[in-house]
Amino acid sequence: MNIHEYQAKAVLREFGVPVPRGMAAFSVEEAEKAARDLGGPVWVVKAQIHAGGRGKAGGVKVVKSIEEVKREAARLLGSTLVTHQTGPHGKQVRRLYIEEGSQIEREYYLSALIDRATSRVAFVASTEGGMEIEEVARTSPEKILSFSVDPATGFMAHYARHAARALGFGRDLVKQAESVLPKLYAAFLAKDMSLLEVNPLVVTKAGALVCLDAKVAFDDNALYRHPDIVALRDLHEEDEKEIEASRYDLNYVALDGTIGCMVNGAGLAMATMDIIKLYGETPANFLDVGGGATKEKVTAAFKIITSDRSVRGILVNIFGGIMRCDIIAEGVVAAVKEVGLRVPLVVRLEGTNVDLGKEIIGKSNLNVTPADDLDDAAQKIVKAVREAA
Ligand code: GDP
Ligand code: MN
Repeated sequence: MNIHEYQAKAVLREFGVPVPRGMAAFSVEEAEKAARDLGGPVWVVKAQIHAGGRGKAGGVKVVKSIEEVKREAARLLGSTLVTHQTGPHGKQVRRLYIEEGSQIEREYYLSALIDRATSRVAFVASTEGGMEIEEVARTSPEKILSFSVDPATGFMAHYARHAARALGFGRDLVKQAESVLPKLYAAFLAKDMSLLEVNPLVVTKAGALVCLDAKVAFDDNALYRHPDIVALRDLHEEDEKEIEASRYDLNYVALDGTIGCMVNGAGLAMATMDIIKLYGETPANFLDVGGGATKEKVTAAFKIITSDRSVRGILVNIFGGIMRCDIIAEGVVAAVKEVGLRVPLVVRLEGTNVDLGKEIIGKSNLNVTPADDLDDAAQKIVKAVREAA
């Protein structure tokens, strides 16, 4: 789960991490009030969307008067911001963060994430702040330092000194790093974060180390222990189909392609997506209906797939071991009865109760193209979609 910058900064503040003062605003009036309360003389008006790259897209404005705060707030609220992370459709701005302006001496990059290879929390630091770290990694990898934290010792002072040295910090900044970095690590652990990215981490003209931006993602599997974090969820930022899928506990991820997929097993779902691409089309989603899915769950899943307007064909690919083919067939038939079927449907069933499953689909009079195996199924759906186009 992701949260907004202003929420991330509030979480970090709880752990004593230095962040600028600021207030969230949902209207121009609230933005004006926030600006007056903060006092100025410089403010930053920041669009709150779950995507980075706002600065370059005009979503972060440094201003010097209340009038300008109001003007920028009016311009941003309700507008759609397209950044390199939002995709071409962009994201609508519904919230702002009004922050006291910082005088920046220099920008750095700092992040913490789970390193699966070492099963540890890894830190990444770079002198190239404010830039996309992927770009830095490509063009000047020698400017990136990374190290992982030994969970037995926790975040020791030498880690901070190591990072500070790589960033070229003088004595006073090393001291500040020794204070700030362990706090970031503590927040990361305590809140079960999966990513904590501070870009930029800045040194101000007054010599203070401050987190000027914060992007935080949480481990969904640990959210049950963090009701305070769950409360920060902003459904506007999430795909409606994914929200619906999460209500049914379905492993569903919306994608940009044209072929809706209903598959059991994450590995088979990945393979199905790959083979669709191999034959020249693109998957509209990842969906693993799981082993113990009920007819209701399958019906819900099929409805979510058909509600996606970019879907031009549907591929059901079930290799039933624990999952029974008849349950899948009943779910598909029930869903089609409710919402209709306006695109070609290819069904490949194999495994437990496969004959019963095929019989249910056969008797339903649905316009289904049966397939024998994964390869056959992928070729058939791609062909059907192209013929219908
Ligand atoms: P992002 O573009 O979505 O990552 O948004 P950021 O919060 O990182 O802001 C983008 C850029 O705006 C930063 O890299 C800074 O250069 C600039 N910026 C943000 N806050 C301030 C501020 O308080 N003062 C000044 N002078 N620049 C700022
Ligand atoms: Mn940033």
